[in-house]
Amino acid sequence: MNVTILGIPFDEYSSFMKGTAEAPQKIREALHSYSTNLCAEDGTDLGANKRWNDAGDLTFEETGSVFPHIEKSIGNLIDKGDKILSLGGDHSITYPIVKAFSKKYDKLNILHFDAHPDLYDELDGNKFSHACPMARIMESNHASRLVQVGIRTMNPHQQKQAERFGVGVNHMKNCSADMKFEFTGPLYITFDMDVLDPAFAPGVSHHEPGGMSTRDIIAILQNLDAEIVGADIVEYNPRRDLNGVTAMVAAKILKEFLVKMIK
Ligand code: MN
Ligand code: MN
Repeated sequence: MNVTILGIPFDEYSSFMKGTAEAPQKIREALHSYSTNLCAEDGTDLGANKRWNDAGDLTFEETGSVFPHIEKSIGNLIDKGDKILSLGGDHSITYPIVKAFSKKYDKLNILHFDAHPDLYDELDGNKFSHACPMARIMESNHASRLVQVGIRTMNPHQQKQAERFGVGVNHMKNCSADMKFEFTGPLYITFDMDVLDPAFAPGVSHHEPGGMSTRDIIAILQNLDAEIVGADIVEYNPRRDLNGVTAMVAAKILKEFLVKMIK
């Protein structure tokens, strides 16, 4: 299957600060920067590979219609037979994306990289906040299994939610580069950039120290055994970045996602 990259520049449901809507274009600039090349670490030259394309960014008319628009746009790409790699945007977009995937795949697995469980029933009165997508997905049965990696902000409410939904939580204190994940059936990966330690990825809205290194993430991805049907990279915030280093990290992870997905 071919992979389509889709930018989703939406940050209205961020709780703390805006800016992630500017991410897709910055990640593209880093990906195509003359300072590096388009080769993934397995030697695949993505510059010469025709199995992926970039569909550009979604555009939005008004906030109220954003989620149905995302769900429909993703659904149309799935119907074409594509795998989709979405670039956020804040983490709220994962709910309508996964909703579209769940219509095609009834036993969808989700691998979720994040400092935060994103399992709040609501935050600041918003059930669609970027702190809530995993609660919406699990209560709607859009995924049959959810595995989280890198979690280091669990609170009692979200712990209850994790138990209620049977979430497999890998707390950061137990995570390492040699973690090996296997999934039977289709896998969707949602990658929140703040799973990385702020030392590696300062360009995020919520700095949460004690996280993963870029190398840890790449090793886990390269050792992953699963059929990846879709993925997203969310929560990169260019307004917080330093010299574009986080954009480069996002582009690097994007390349490693692409080679796993086009196989
Ligand atoms: Mn998140
Ligand atoms: Mn997060």
